[in-house]
Amino acid sequence: MKILTSPSETQTHCRARRAEGKQIGLVPTMGFLHEGHLSLVRGARTDSDFVVVSIFVNPTQFGPSEDFGSYPRDFEQDRRLLVVEGVDLIFAPTVEEMYPPGSVTAVEVAGQLTKGLCGASRPSHFYGVTTVVSKLFNIVSPHRAYFGQKDAQQLAVIQRMVADLNFDIEIVPMPTVRESDGLAMSSRNRYLSPEARRAATVLYRSLQLAKERIEDGERTSAKIIDAMRELIEREKPARIDYIELVDTNRLEPQELVHGEMLIALAVFVGQTRLIDNLRMRVPD
Ligand code: AMP
Repeated sequence: MKILTSPSETQTHCRARRAEGKQIGLVPTMGFLHEGHLSLVRGARTDSDFVVVSIFVNPTQFGPSEDFGSYPRDFEQDRRLLVVEGVDLIFAPTVEEMYPPGSVTAVEVAGQLTKGLCGASRPSHFYGVTTVVSKLFNIVSPHRAYFGQKDAQQLAVIQRMVADLNFDIEIVPMPTVRESDGLAMSSRNRYLSPEARRAATVLYRSLQLAKERIEDGERTSAKIIDAMRELIEREKPARIDYIELVDTNRLEPQELVHGEMLIALAVFVGQTRLIDNLRMRVPD
């Protein structure tokens, strides 16, 4: 397994693999890898001849009061995990290599896709994501790139960007990997105190409650959201950022649930902001 930090060397290396006719799969990550990330790597390994995993904690997708400085990092552990998965190349640039002095260009997906849900409380987040992912796409030139459904809005934003900017890359969505009690795996789970860790299962439990209510015939979003809210508010360390029922294409809030829906929420558990979602086809 090769490890490169220089964007230009990585570009040269990946171009040479492409010229040899290799199918390239890219898994963009911020490191501190867990089974969720590894499921994406396994997907890429199955579909590709040459698997690239990027590890880059991207400062431009963190707000000024967010956790860029304290975000967990463990390159040595990540490296060991990726060797086992048979990854061909880790691309792990420094911030200065990704954003050299004078760099001012950004890629932005406009409109509701980036304004609602997490975009409301993290206004510059998606512009940081789309800019760094565009750079990774240009550096690695993958045939396919793998993204987790856990970050459903990010996935929708990237799919939009790829369509709008004619990136010749297939975006492969991958299911959310969960702990045995339902908590979606996340690098940020390591911030949780034992009490917060117990309370954090309420995100998943509230999604299951919403699903049950819909299966029992409830169609009014406000009522489903109220039931979720009530369940979450029983957990002392939990503070809701948002709960939304949106359509899966435009991520517009729906008063009545119908068709392909995304139930999405963000909750602070203690100081840690966690997100989760459930996709569901609502029968007529
Ligand atoms: P991150 O390192 O948090 O930026 O995540 C890198 C990629 O892994 C993104 O495409 C995430 O959606 C995906 N990912 C993170 N957690 C999970 C999970 N629990 N299940 C599946 N994919 C995940």
